[in-house]
Amino acid sequence: MSHIKHLQCLICGRTFPPEPDRYVCPDHGNEGILDVVYDYDVIASRISPQSLAQNPDPTIWRYKPLVPVAPDSPVPPLTVGGTPLYETPRLAAGLGLNHVWVKDDGREPTASFKDRASAIAIVKAREADAAIITTASTGNAAAALSGLAASVNQPNVIFVPASAPQAKIAQLLTFGSTVMLVEGTYDDAFELCMEAADAFGWYNRNTGYNPYMSEGKKTVSYEICEQLDWQAPDVIFVSVGDGCIIGGVYKGLYDLLQLGWIDHMPRIIGVQARGSNYLAEAWEKGEDVLTKPPIDAHTVADSISAGLPRDRLKAMRAVRESGGAFVTVSDEAILQAIPELAQKTGVFAEPAGAAAYAGLRKAAAQGLVSPDDRIVVINTGSGLKDVTSAMKAAAMTGAEPYFVKPSLEDVKRALGD
Ligand SMILES: *Cc1c(COP(=O)(O)O)cnc(C)c1O
Ligand SMILES: [Zn+2]
Repeated sequence: MSHIKHLQCLICGRTFPPEPDRYVCPDHGNEGILDVVYDYDVIASRISPQSLAQNPDPTIWRYKPLVPVAPDSPVPPLTVGGTPLYETPRLAAGLGLNHVWVKDDGREPTASFKDRASAIAIVKAREADAAIITTASTGNAAAALSGLAASVNQPNVIFVPASAPQAKIAQLLTFGSTVMLVEGTYDDAFELCMEAADAFGWYNRNTGYNPYMSEGKKTVSYEICEQLDWQAPDVIFVSVGDGCIIGGVYKGLYDLLQLGWIDHMPRIIGVQARGSNYLAEAWEKGEDVLTKPPIDAHTVADSISAGLPRDRLKAMRAVRESGGAFVTVSDEAILQAIPELAQKTGVFAEPAGAAAYAGLRKAAAQGLVSPDDRIVVINTGSGLKDVTSAMKAAAMTGAEPYFVKPSLEDVKRALGD
């Protein structure tokens, strides 16, 4: 793959050839996360803003020369990427801001941002001739792998905490995955999946371990910048669990800066739940994430519940190198953000998606953003993923349905006529 120079350990800088099943630096075990290092001259000879303007493919594969797959590798048929970027003036005005957009990745084929990574996982597993792919997940990465695997008839084994929302488990079973409901946390599911992958030789999609996952996630930054006519925003808000999405957001922007397609690096603000604040705490206290012990994570936003964020090196790099920050939000603020975002934009988010907006709300109150900043909030998952939380959030606003008999009289009475 001539557009890739090598894979490079984030800890020691050692480099490796870009094999599809090269995961981590052996000198640093599972902590030795690798970055994909590109040859931007080769990339610039294959793709440009002008060639993109002529390309009718709306999916992430319009950026194929920028992602770590062979030019002739077949890609899964589902429509991954190409999600809408909505300008949201009412939402902005409510916060005293002038320019806010919502990037709605609830509109992916399995209804979360994770499809961007799992699409790459499918291609890499096939390049590696793997019989079986596996992943652990809080639910969405699993559903994404499960759906994309179904689209190409790829056997897979999934590990999720037994407490995952029903909708996510329903997706796994419906797509025909082999499903392990682990009695324990996401962190337990992760360790078990890693052990199983090792024992059975499965292709390992795990977040913060497989170096190619953030390379799929970075396509969101390409889309945001292309949708804004290559005028990069000033600030991007994204919720953070393992830290793979935020690392990908940064990597995409980094690529575009190297290519000279954008002229500045947006500040990236990572939003964590107060009860799952490993990275925010490390950021505030200046702690080393290679030695900081796991925390006990608890939050209503199941998708960002991570006691030991697996992609913490890339997450910290994203915030540090972009001049960004971490903010934390309470579960109450996350739930409140669901109907507020929905009513001001028409976008229905799951708790982890709404958390990014709750983070913007807090940042605006704290003066972390200014009125003229051009701000993008990424919704990472559909509200239909967790209807129980949505009902709870709606109840908190006092919203109640009227119970009526099928008669207009009842409707009039309900309306108070
Ligand atoms: C996975 C996920 C996140 C967080 O992504 P990380 O890479 O784990 O930080 C946020 N929101 C949703 C809906 C997700 O599924
Ligand atoms: Zn190393």
